[in-house]
Amino acid sequence: MQRVVAVDLFRIRLPLTKPFRTARSTTTRKDALLVRVVTDDAEGWGEVGAEVSPTYAPETLDSAHLVLRDELVPRLFAGASLDAVRGHHAARGALSNAVLDADLRAEGVSLAAFLGAARDHVDAGVALGRGDDPAGLAAELSGYLEQGYRSCKLKIAPGHDVEFVAAARAAAGSDVVIQVDANGSYTLDDRDQLAALDAFGVQCLEQPLAPDALLDHARLAELIGTPIGLDETITSATVARDAVASGACSVVSIKAGLVGGLEAARRTHDVCVAAGADARAGGMLETGVGRAALVALAALPGFTVTGDLSASSRYFEHDVTEPFELHAGRLTVPTGPGLGVAPLPDLLARCTIAREHWISSEKAPRGR
Ligand code: MG
Repeated sequence: MQRVVAVDLFRIRLPLTKPFRTARSTTTRKDALLVRVVTDDAEGWGEVGAEVSPTYAPETLDSAHLVLRDELVPRLFAGASLDAVRGHHAARGALSNAVLDADLRAEGVSLAAFLGAARDHVDAGVALGRGDDPAGLAAELSGYLEQGYRSCKLKIAPGHDVEFVAAARAAAGSDVVIQVDANGSYTLDDRDQLAALDAFGVQCLEQPLAPDALLDHARLAELIGTPIGLDETITSATVARDAVASGACSVVSIKAGLVGGLEAARRTHDVCVAAGADARAGGMLETGVGRAALVALAALPGFTVTGDLSASSRYFEHDVTEPFELHAGRLTVPTGPGLGVAPLPDLLARCTIAREHWISSEKAPRGR
């Protein structure tokens, strides 16, 4: 690892093309935290995989900011291991990803090659927020199919499930992959309603029950035909191993922000391959920085179920990087050194609402 001489934190805000609603929250604009590390030879970027509110995962952008400022960046400057910090995986992941990006850029190696990518394109999948009515959802889905998407994930919630999935299947026909995501909004008492989804050829029912309900998921898996995927539950490679071994899921959604960075995500992928489980690359409405990392990760051979891999235009009119675009229903894996993309200075300046800069020669990082 090269010597890190400075770290910058950019809090940015991008308008979403339209609000995104899940079982637990509605997002109308994207706030993100980007980390830049500067070494003697290169700079690298990471994106914090957290949101403004702790409704999806416990970490927030503000908690990540504090942990970066008070714990992680001082440890990095001191040459100490970031692993001593327990939890706070989104903050730790963003900083370690930025360091990795800087190292790879200095070496001229792409992230995809470093991680062990097996393909140069990945199938795109689009996530649709909870709709107001089944016909509206079907119309929205038809629009994405016209753009070339062949796989979709529908957000569902109690009272917004079977008839929405039925309308989507009718609009999509039998060839389009449909996944659904409940964001932990059901309980085992809803088993009959969840079993009713079996009629629609759903590839994966993601996180039907609470994140810590491992054995309840295993019970549910015996009662329904649709394969269960876990997302919020998967906070480490060890948890993934135990989730698969206990029968709680057969699909593992892997998010670098939840497991603590790209190298932890690769270890989680390796656990899935060893256990014969399908991995899927989980997204969090990333800007181009996080999206580049996600696309590179999704190119690993164990990602056998289409992930949250949409074009930048799904969420943003203007991203902070060159946008990721759909080509025949696929996204191209970046081949340049490191992430292969970086924020464009003009776009970054336009959407930055706060910034901090820390220099390693100082005894402790301090805001400027
Ligand atoms: Mg999910």
